[in-house]
Formats: sequence, C-alpha cells, structure tokens
Amino acid sequence: MTDITEEEILRRLEEEGKEKGLHPRLLEFYHRLFNIEARARQRIGRARLKIKKEAIRERAKRNLPLVGSNELALDWPILRQISADIIAAFSDYSDVFGELPLSLREARPGSLLTSKVVRAWFKGAKPPSNIAAGDADDYLFLEAIIQATLRPFLICQAQELISLVDQENWRRKSCPVCGGQADFAFIDTERGSRWLVCSRCDTEWLFQRLQCPYCDNQNQDELSYFTDEEGAYRLYVCQHCHNYIKALSSRSSDSKVVWPLERVLTLGIDRQAQDMGYTHGHQET
Ligand SMILES: [Zn+2]
Ligand SMILES: [Zn+2]
Repeated sequence: MTDITEEEILRRLEEEGKEKGLHPRLLEFYHRLFNIEARARQRIGRARLKIKKEAIRERAKRNLPLVGSNELALDWPILRQISADIIAAFSDYSDVFGELPLSLREARPGSLLTSKVVRAWFKGAKPPSNIAAGDADDYLFLEAIIQATLRPFLICQAQELISLVDQENWRRKSCPVCGGQADFAFIDTERGSRWLVCSRCDTEWLFQRLQCPYCDNQNQDELSYFTDEEGAYRLYVCQHCHNYIKALSSRSSDSKVVWPLERVLTLGIDRQAQDMGYTHGHQET
C-alpha cells in the first residue's frame, strides 16, 4: 500500500478538480472539509470500541454487521468540536450550498447532535422533528452535517474492525461493519471482482458483479453500465429501482484510493446520471 499524504490529497483535489471543471468555491469547500476530517482523525486516534472484540468476532462468525447504533465509538467533546467546524464551513459557503437554516446555524454546541439524533441517523431514520422542523432542505443540511461529523469516528472504528469481516461470506448490499449503504464501487483488476464502498465509513466489501447494490435485482436485462471517455470510471444503473452507483473501472491491489477525493472528482458523473433520470441510491434510506 502506498500512503498518500494529506498534502498530496489536497494537491490532487485542486489540480484534478480544476481539470474536471469543478467550481473553485466548491473545491475550496472540500479542501476545508478534508482538513477538518484529517484534524479530527488525528484527535480521535485509535477508536475505543464499546463492545468487546470477542462479541464482535461472534457477530462476524454469524455474518451480522459488527457495530450497532448503541455501540458507536464516539468522543462527545471531539464530536461537538467537529460539528461546530462543519456548520461553520457550510455557513461560509452559502453561495455554493444555499443559506444554512437558522435552526442549524444558531444551534448551541451539543443541542444539535445528541445521542438520540446520532442513533436515528445511524439507523437510517429521520431525526426527531424538533431538530430539522420537518423542512426537506433543513433535513438535507442536517444529514450532511451529521454524516461529515460522524465520518472520522466511523472510519477510525472501521479500521479496527475490517480484518474481522469474512469477505467471501458477506456479499450483501449493506456495509459489513456499520450496516450503511454503498455509494461507490470498484473492479478489482487482478480478480475481476466487484467491490462496494460504504458511504459512511469507507469500508470496502466484495459484492456480485451483476446485481444492483440497492434493490438486489439480478435481472441482466435491467442492469447496465456506461464508461467515461478515459475508461477510468463506470456508471452502473438499474432499470428496476432507477438508482445508480459510480465505480472505478480498475483498481490494482497496490493502489491506494482516497474515496472522499474520488467522490468529489466524480461529481460530474452524478450530474450526468441524474440528468438521465437516475437517483443516488444511498440517499434513499
Ligand atoms: Zn460502513
Ligand atoms: Zn436496483
């Protein structure tokens, strides 16, 4: 594995982002977001698991997701700091994302991301109604803030647990570590197999090549993919649920992929997919 430094990631974001025609303010925003996440991961360090490794091994043996919503390895003071940084970033880029709702902008640290809200998000449920006031835009912002705040914790936790996953036996559409949905895929160059990547914790897991990762459809007449001009990416689409997933066309075992960077650099593919009438599957929780 080749390690990629933070500097290198930011340099690629800037250079490749510009090449792909992404708006400079959008790239600036992600630059800031990546910095917040890198700092957060340094502060978190090794995840302090809330469940015994023995219990986790037992779950792995029984082919169950390894972590439940009550067992997240969180450090609340750090979490509150990250959420304040994320909210400030969204507020400073209102020209890109629109004005942050007042209820989120003026929330006291600690009142927004309570354990109840975090658990609801983790289970894919809507947050309690007093938080996002039921407004769809408020909810999207809140979801983005929770996701960005929790990411560093979930990633540190996944790094501790990934080696326990039995890849050959799992092969489901949800993440074997946190139970989240995939938002990216890649083809393993050596084995020709397809892997999914968790939208929440970046865990990678083996999946069927010809199956929709959102509705499990295996009807070959309804599954297809497009390739970009350079042949670097694929866009898998399903005619049954009309969801799509982006993928790296080939990845060798010695290449280190930075998923947050890939997600940003392929925003143009998201736009194309949505123009064709497809939806980002992992948002439909
Ligand atoms: Zn996950
Ligand atoms: Zn489908």
